[in-house]
Amino acid sequence: MKVLKFGGTSVGTVKNMQHVKDIITDGTKKIVVLSAMSGTTNTLVSIASDIFNKTPNQAVDTINKMHESYFVVIDELLVDDSFNSDVKNYATEIFNFLLEATYLEYSKNLENKILAQGELLSTYMFNAYLKQEGISSSLLPALDFMRINSAKEPDLVSIKEKFGGVLETTPESDIYITQGFICLDENDDVSNLQRGGSDYTATIIGAVIHAEEVQIWTDIDGMHNNDPRFVENTHPISNLSFDEAAELAYFGAKILHPQTVLPVREDGIPVRLKNTMDPAADGTLISSDTSENGIKAIAAKDNITAIKIKSGRMLQAYGFLKKVFEVFETYETSIDMITTSEVAVSLTIDDDKNLDRIVSELEKIASIEVDKNQTIVCLVGHSIVSHDSTFKLFQILQDVKIRMISYGGSRNNISLLINSNDKITTLNKLNDYLFELVTL
Ligand code: ADP
Ligand code: ASP
Ligand code: MG
Repeated sequence: MKVLKFGGTSVGTVKNMQHVKDIITDGTKKIVVLSAMSGTTNTLVSIASDIFNKTPNQAVDTINKMHESYFVVIDELLVDDSFNSDVKNYATEIFNFLLEATYLEYSKNLENKILAQGELLSTYMFNAYLKQEGISSSLLPALDFMRINSAKEPDLVSIKEKFGGVLETTPESDIYITQGFICLDENDDVSNLQRGGSDYTATIIGAVIHAEEVQIWTDIDGMHNNDPRFVENTHPISNLSFDEAAELAYFGAKILHPQTVLPVREDGIPVRLKNTMDPAADGTLISSDTSENGIKAIAAKDNITAIKIKSGRMLQAYGFLKKVFEVFETYETSIDMITTSEVAVSLTIDDDKNLDRIVSELEKIASIEVDKNQTIVCLVGHSIVSHDSTFKLFQILQDVKIRMISYGGSRNNISLLINSNDKITTLNKLNDYLFELVTL
């Protein structure tokens, strides 16, 4: 069986939902993972932050507008009276829950419950639409099987067992629809797989059912060689290895949630990226094939903090790095990039929640400099250093202040740390000289 995930834009309008219906009704049984309609999760985040900021009236306004716009979509999508009123009743329950939430004290649990409503709405609506169109479809409630553990990792053993149980008790159907993004945590509270997490839901399900393929349907024709939001003339890449895709997703290629390929890499389950608005386009196939070499793509990850740890005693004192890493371990902060010299270590983090505490701990053993607003620019491709143009990197970027460079952690990746203000220029220069064959 295949798992097909459709993102926010793909279910964002009635017309796009009709495209999705056409794509999935090819006569084969499948699992369909849906995101919330585009914009909905951001709206839910704003409702939660109004509750946090004690501005409930603003949240009530937002909920009323949301209610109105959902009813317009329901009227257009569900022309059959009984489906129309059933979905309106379901949606009304959700909007009533949101209105009641505006009277409550903010908590992370409440926020997570609020954020879950987008996927609950889109899947209920879409399932009713398929049924109206005479297609055999059923809902598999993600909260009945999707679960993360205390380390916020998917609990694959429990998911596999529960998913099997849910499937068994669900009426046999051609299409099984489930919610992306949402899950329960180790305390059985509603939680999620972080923003963009529906991609991750799809590969987690793909792994537990040993799917033939996982398809991620979105609003672009596959993984491009550079970030299309900041660079013109990007083009889709037809093949990527799991390692290349993992690096690109982790280092900021928004088309994939950072963890997307992890569940399927080991079993070699292929992941295909496709465009809902242009299903005939090839898209990108992510697989175990590592035969292509050279620089394939560039991605950028913002909101990085660089920490320089300088100590005169570093070289002589073995165990110095251990002490440094222990501080990050204590504050559960993962390190992305690391470079060393004789007297200093520079490293980067993207979660600066505990930055002050980390810095004061580190100051006990070294002098510390912190630079915020940094961006990691990551060049990805197998045997990247043997590419014809790689040696030109310093020349291409001679006007950009490079704070750190890292190569060697894998053979697929060269990472550069720059000031975020230089990101767009850097991405464009690299594009011109590495991909568009502009000569230096
Ligand atoms: P969905 O809602 O379907 O999950 P996303 O917005 O999360 O879609 O991801 C698709 C978007 O990712 C594209 O519209 C594009 O702007 C952005 N993007 C960023 N980097 C890349 C890249 N390297 N290749 C393709 N798309 C990218
Ligand atoms: N709806 C969630 C979000 O906007 C999950 C997703 O779209 O993948 O982040
Ligand atoms: Mg996404």
